[in-house]
Amino acid sequence: MALIHCAGCGKRISDKAPTCPHCQYARDSDPEVAERAGRIRAIRHNQTLMTHSFIALLLFVGGFALWWWGGEAAEGWREPVGTGAMALGFVFYLVTRVRIILARRRA
Ligand SMILES: [Zn+2]
Repeated sequence: MALIHCAGCGKRISDKAPTCPHCQYARDSDPEVAERAGRIRAIRHNQTLMTHSFIALLLFVGGFALWWWGGEAAEGWREPVGTGAMALGFVFYLVTRVRIILARRRA
């Protein structure tokens, strides 16, 4: 028994399995089905990335609001938490943008 990569989801499955236990992709199905599965996977991946960039923006805006509460620069715990959330949101957003560009280029 050897392990191969599933054409539907990319996970490692047994070459003896007629269908993938992870995504039910039938290994011997016609190329049209395989293509459709690939397209659905790309759409799902895109939606995940969109959700990630939305979370990153929320984190950034939330961090800024916390830091700039009441129009003054934050003091005490709000300062490290606010700037931390802003930095994290900013980096997370940049990483997600790069992943979106890479995903589009692959499609
Ligand atoms: Zn699979």
